[in-house]
Amino acid sequence: MMKAAFPGSFDPPTLGHLNIIRRAAGIFDELLVVVAENRQKKYLFSADERVAMLGELAADMKNVSVAVCDTLIVDYLNEKNIQLLIRGVRGIDDFSYEFELSMMNKALDSRIETIFMTTDPEYFVLRSSAIKEVASFRGNISGMVPPIVADALRKKFPAETA
Ligand code: ADP
Repeated sequence: MMKAAFPGSFDPPTLGHLNIIRRAAGIFDELLVVVAENRQKKYLFSADERVAMLGELAADMKNVSVAVCDTLIVDYLNEKNIQLLIRGVRGIDDFSYEFELSMMNKALDSRIETIFMTTDPEYFVLRSSAIKEVASFRGNISGMVPPIVADALRKKFPAETA
């Protein structure tokens, strides 16, 4: 039984995240999408909102579940008995950051194996932070996020505050 976890902020989930989730779900027996809740970070969407969106987006993938983690990811993975950690990589900049993160996680727990999945080319420009910025100016984000996320973003940035 190959269980893997895909941790991230998912603030909000994008088509790029969903692409990694779908592809990882096709490879591993079980995939746990882990929504990070870091008290030092400011999020646009609450952990509950991010979990609800991801749950809806992954509803058709029977081997995918969604959970929140507010502790160190390696501790969380141990608790869940998961050794494989998936991270998506859009390019060299992502890779250098992700590589360091994987070294840090390895130093914290040598059993954790990080598996990098390269983005599918059509998603490589998608980044939650840039999408939030576009949404804040009421720009067209429909090709970047699933419709439920586009709706949620429109509600966060109503026309009168633009
Ligand atoms: P974090 O704050 O933990 O980096 P993100 O939600 O930004 O969380 O990203 C979670 C994971 O998804 C990271 O590994 C990130 O590189 C990956 N990711 C984000 N956007 C894309 C994309 N468009 N294609 C592939 N992977 C992506």
